[in-house]
Amino acid sequence: MSISFNHPGVISGMSERVDGSMIWWNTLPVNEAVRQNRDRYFEKIGVDPARVVAGGIIHGTRVVKVGDEHAGQYLLNSDGLITNVADVVLSVTAADCMPVFFFDPVTKSVGMAHAGWRGLIAGVLENVIREMGRAYGSRPEDIRVIIGPHIRACHYKVGEDVAAQFAEENVDRRDGQLFVRLASEAEMRLRGLGVSEISVHPACTYKDERYYSARRDKSDPLEGMVAYIGLKV
Ligand SMILES: [Zn+2]
Repeated sequence: MSISFNHPGVISGMSERVDGSMIWWNTLPVNEAVRQNRDRYFEKIGVDPARVVAGGIIHGTRVVKVGDEHAGQYLLNSDGLITNVADVVLSVTAADCMPVFFFDPVTKSVGMAHAGWRGLIAGVLENVIREMGRAYGSRPEDIRVIIGPHIRACHYKVGEDVAAQFAEENVDRRDGQLFVRLASEAEMRLRGLGVSEISVHPACTYKDERYYSARRDKSDPLEGMVAYIGLKV
């Protein structure tokens, strides 16, 4: 499955391991190798790196309204980004966490979020929906959502403390161990706000070698993918 809304007005996608590590952990200056990987990747897919905005991931809930003035910048403390400016491309990085893509064809606006269990439970996805409403007048029922490749319940073992924060039906118990369904929890929360069109990429980043996985790779520094969305001019 490709990460696409199949709409001529919007581009979206995510890098893979073959493209190199794209992880930016909210510290400046940005690691030079990571910056080069990102620039090379965006050039490869026909996106001007100078138009890309990077969200600094901290497992938080802050959503930044991105404008033309942010093009090319790395924005600290911003797990959520939204814009209605064409030719500004929103990006976050992820390696097991969910990259979540938002597109409203009615108000012609987009959003991008990074959501691991902390940000998800804290409400980063609801914040994106709310901020798109506040900033652009988007209605939840018009906003389409794609949940990109992330670690699925087959491999996402958690402790009792984490599992307790998920709805009961989103927790699997196998052999006395607990596993949580990030996408199901996300869907439940988004549908609760009125979002109806949600698709989930089937890949598990832990299982699928095309992707980096923080849990599987245990690399230091962490390696990961960049996910992006932008409106076409
Ligand atoms: Zn898995």
